Amino acid sequence: MDMKKTIALLVAAACLCALLAACGAKPATETGTTSESATEAAPAAPEFKTVGEAVAYAGDGNYQSSTYEKAYVYVFEKDGEYLRVIAELTPEQYEEFSALDFLADDYAEKESAFLAELPVTKCESLNGQMLSEEETAALVGKTGEELLNGGWTTGSGYDLATMDFYMEYSPFEYVVTFEKAEQLENSDDFDEEAAIKPLKVTSVKFFGLGNSATDVAEYMPEETIDYLVLVNKQNKLPDDWEETVVLEESTNRWGETYQVEAKALAAFLELQKDLLDNDGIVIELDSTYRSVKRQQEIWDEFEAEKGLEYAQQYVAVPGYSEHHTGLAIDICIEKDGVRIDDNDDMIAEKEIFSKIHAKLADHGFILRYLEGKDDVTGYAYEPWHFRYVDSPEIAHEITDAGLTLEEYLGADAEAAE
Ligand SMILES: [Zn+2]
Repeated sequence: MDMKKTIALLVAAACLCALLAACGAKPATETGTTSESATEAAPAAPEFKTVGEAVAYAGDGNYQSSTYEKAYVYVFEKDGEYLRVIAELTPEQYEEFSALDFLADDYAEKESAFLAELPVTKCESLNGQMLSEEETAALVGKTGEELLNGGWTTGSGYDLATMDFYMEYSPFEYVVTFEKAEQLENSDDFDEEAAIKPLKVTSVKFFGLGNSATDVAEYMPEETIDYLVLVNKQNKLPDDWEETVVLEESTNRWGETYQVEAKALAAFLELQKDLLDNDGIVIELDSTYRSVKRQQEIWDEFEAEKGLEYAQQYVAVPGYSEHHTGLAIDICIEKDGVRIDDNDDMIAEKEIFSKIHAKLADHGFILRYLEGKDDVTGYAYEPWHFRYVDSPEIAHEITDAGLTLEEYLGADAEAAE
């Protein structure tokens, strides 16, 4: 009923190809294959000197393209063969290409002129990445959750009447049919992933190029996190955070292993060394990254054992703890060979902590829960809880002005509500 297949790209492809095919490039040299069976080993890809030649060879078939800062990637199908053509761009070429005005009347002409001359760096067949009949047959009976955990993605459309889901297993798209679930109804907030998770696959059929066919890891822009993200009792961890953040592991002197965001960990290790070498102070990781899932488990355990009221008072609400970011580190110290990690004992070590705090900003950290700012941060003074903010400059700006992160971000009013 609700067919949401994306076809915009394919329509665009037809127009552009018609124009580009006129540039007169010769079809590629020997392909050396009849490509009768799409599931056989990858056939040898034809050689193209320029993108223009590849475009002419592709003819009226479907294609997709993506422009990255360092490369133009063109993927198309011809007689059952799926080819990916990569043309690396110089900074000048990238600038020239991205300066073309998409809305101008002569855009297509200028684009094809640019591509006609653009040298090809690499041409590869994607057929080897296509799932064989045995492989697709082996998926029947698995659950949607197993597919999602195995690298399949949704988002290309579905038809609940037929239970056809257009799913991608890079670089291709397949029509995956699930056993009918009686209560499945479409709505604006229909959650495809949640819907298919418990359902069993009844068939998997090849469909064509997937949306990620032009994704080439080495040219993809690196996803980066917002090092100034605000997570507190009013502000939830962003939904895509956990899939974007890069965590690294570190083991403390007592053999306990912790996960911390990669840059934050490197900065912490520098801070640790600085304090040890110059002040003879030993600081160690005591509590760091905690997943939302883990926080939920902690919450559930407390609620089951001590009741909801107790959980609300003593356990951070899942999704609302700064420890979810990977940027927060609780330290403990070692003094005269003894580990000090009790909150009250650490608060009593005023001299040691003031020396530690004096070095935080130099390494990109701030003291997150300042004394006397409970009403702004929502937390009492915690001399052990540090927050990485990416650069010593920003850390000094915040620290030297005596601000909390809420105040620095101008969210103090919101937080105090
Ligand atoms: Zn903490």
